[in-house]
Amino acid sequence: MSTTTPRNYTKLFIPGPIDVSEDTYAAMSRPMIGHRSGDFVKLYEGMMPKLQTLFGTSRPVFLSTSSAWGTMEAAIRNLTQKRVLNCCCGAFSDKWNDVAKRCGLEADALRVEWGEAITPELLREALSKADYDVVTLVHNETSTGVMNPLKELAAVVNEFDDVLLVVDTVSSFSATPIAMDDWGIDVLLTGSQKALALPPGLSLFAASERAMKRAEATPNRGYYFDFLEFAANAEKFMTPSTPCISLLYGLDHQLNKFFAEGLENRYARHRKLNGMIDAWGAKHGLTHFAPEGLRSVTLTTFANDRDWDLDAWNKRLKNEHQLMINMGYGKIKGKTFRISNMGDENEATIQELIDALDATLPV
Ligand SMILES: *Cc1c(COP(=O)(O)O)cnc(C)c1O
Repeated sequence: MSTTTPRNYTKLFIPGPIDVSEDTYAAMSRPMIGHRSGDFVKLYEGMMPKLQTLFGTSRPVFLSTSSAWGTMEAAIRNLTQKRVLNCCCGAFSDKWNDVAKRCGLEADALRVEWGEAITPELLREALSKADYDVVTLVHNETSTGVMNPLKELAAVVNEFDDVLLVVDTVSSFSATPIAMDDWGIDVLLTGSQKALALPPGLSLFAASERAMKRAEATPNRGYYFDFLEFAANAEKFMTPSTPCISLLYGLDHQLNKFFAEGLENRYARHRKLNGMIDAWGAKHGLTHFAPEGLRSVTLTTFANDRDWDLDAWNKRLKNEHQLMINMGYGKIKGKTFRISNMGDENEATIQELIDALDATLPV
C-alpha cells in the first residue's frame, strides 16, 4: 500500500513489523499446496538461487517457520560446545546473551554502551581471553540504529581457529550488501517482517560447511530447530515440518520484485530514503543516537534531546495521518525515537511521512 492515497489503516514506520504492500498480500492469498508436493519443491527451488545471491553464499538457504529468535536460539544450541561470546550493544544483542544462559550454555558478554558499535580491537581482545567456539553478533542493532562493521568483525573472528560466527541481519538483510561466504560468516539469519517487508512468522538462515560439521557433533539439538534436519530436507527443497506456505508465496513475490528492481538499485534506494530522514533531522537540529559512519541504512534513531512528549506526538501521527513511528525500545524508550525506511518505501511515501512529522512536530 505504498501510495499516497488515503488509508483506512495505520501505516507502520516503526522498525518492524513494517508495512506490507497490497500486491504482497495478494500474492500470499493463493490456495494451499502440500508441503511434500512437486508444487512446493518448485516454489522453494525457484527461490533458492535468489536467496543464495542475497545471502552471498553457495550454501543452501533454509526456511524456518518461526520468528528470528527461533533461529537465533537454534544457532547457539546447534553450535556451542565450549563457550559463546555474545557481542552486546543494544536490546537485541543483549538479549542473545540472556538466551544463551537460559539454554544452559557458558556465555560471556562483550559489552559496549548502547549507541556504540563493537570494534575489531575489543572483539580481538575478548576472544583472546577465553576458549570460545561461537561468537554472536547483531549486524544492525535495531534498538540503537547502530550498524556494526560486519566485514571487519568477521575478519577478526576468522583470526581464531574453530570459532564460528553467527550473525543476526534481521533488520539489514536485503537492504545492504552482505557476503556470507567471502566474509567468512558461519551462520547468517534473518526474519520476514523487517527489510523483506513481509508479515512476521518466517526466518531464513544459512550455515557454512564447518558450522554443519560442528552441529553434527553437538548433542541435544532437539528436532524443530535441528540444523541437520533443515539440511537433509533442503536437499529435496523441503522443510522439516509444515512451513508457513502463505509467507513463502509472499517471499517468492518479494524476491521477484527485488531482482526486477536490481539489487544495486535496491541498496541505493535504501541509502537515499535513509538520507531523506537524516536531512529532515538535520533541518530540525536533531542529534543521532548512533555515531556517524556506523549508522543503519534501514532506520534512524534520534536522541530525544528536547524532551518531547513522544507518546502524544505518535498519537497525533496516528489520528491525523494514519501512520506511526517508534518511541524508543528497551531502556532508551522515551529517550530516543526511531523511524524506519526499510521495505517497499519510495521517495513519495517517505516525503509523505516527513510532511506528517513536520505537521505534528511537538515544538
Ligand atoms: C526484530 C529483531 C529481532 C527479533 O525478531 P523476532 O522476529 O521478534 O524474533 C532480532 N534481532 C534484530 C536485530 C531485530 O531487529
